[in-house]
Amino acid sequence: MIKAIITGAAGFLGSHLTKSLLNKGYIVVGLDNLCTGKETNLSAFINHPQFKLLRVNVANPEVRELEEVQEADEIYHLASPASPKFYQDNPFETIDINTIGTRNMLDIALRTGAKFLFTSTSEAYGDPEVHPQPESYRGNVNTFGPRACYDEAKRLGEVYCYEYYARFGVRVKVARVFNTYSAGLRNDDGRVISNFVNQALSNLDITVYGDGSQTRSFCYVDDTVEALRLLMVKKDTEGEIVNIGNPIEYSVLEVAQLVKEMAQSNSKITFHPLPQDDPKVRQPVIDKAKKLLGWEPQITLEDGLKRTIEAYQAQLV
Ligand code: UDP
Repeated sequence: MIKAIITGAAGFLGSHLTKSLLNKGYIVVGLDNLCTGKETNLSAFINHPQFKLLRVNVANPEVRELEEVQEADEIYHLASPASPKFYQDNPFETIDINTIGTRNMLDIALRTGAKFLFTSTSEAYGDPEVHPQPESYRGNVNTFGPRACYDEAKRLGEVYCYEYYARFGVRVKVARVFNTYSAGLRNDDGRVISNFVNQALSNLDITVYGDGSQTRSFCYVDDTVEALRLLMVKKDTEGEIVNIGNPIEYSVLEVAQLVKEMAQSNSKITFHPLPQDDPKVRQPVIDKAKKLLGWEPQITLEDGLKRTIEAYQAQLV
């Protein structure tokens, strides 16, 4: 049986990945300090005989000594706040988990020989001056602003991956994950799809920041999780950075209108100040993922929003 360690297992992506690997017969050890993750995300399989959740902070070097991590085949390092709201509320935890935490988990990979996947981010490109963004683009990140604790920490996490790969031969893979969504994000997550869907279903104002002309490209969580798994298992992916995202780009105002229409909502669309350093555009080039993983997203924004709206609606009833 294959044994995987997943940091951030109680988080949004981590809990979906845990479910997917358990369904494939894996043994999964989840590490999470529940800073932004929720144990309820794992309630369907918390008692699964092949799953164990340890409440630990992987930025603490003692994580390397835990009995449960002395053997592993695959390490997925997902732990980190990912919503701007949460990483800006927890800047030092965000920096530590993506830098020291990445190093601690790389040390475990080095000792066990496990393959290692780090979830970096489209935010590594900052407010991009190249559009759409291929992996070769080096980014336009502000080191001295409210997003820096996330963007720059993820970039330094990539540096650790590079050094452990180049110097010690650890089999690292880096995923630059673009905006991912589905129901199951915390209701107070603050990211655009969960905000808009919750607002639309409650007939509250749909809060567009700025004029809504900024763009994002949204990937449904099932597509993202499948890409992460393929990146871990496919040959010729060691030492590679791969964009994982849906290349279809929407303006935020288009998303607001689509959610309002699909939820049959009476909400008003209202306009609010744009947060500092909010990227104006974001769209992945996914040629590398197509070539190396044989993957491309299957779920359109309309299909994904339909599922998301239905799931949030069921919670309201
Ligand atoms: N946004 C918005 N209204 C909201 C939440 C977010 O207009 O209630 C905008 C935000 O300013 C950004 C985009 O939606 O331009 C995506 O924001 P999110 O926080 O989801 O993630 P980001 O891609 O910025 O990390």
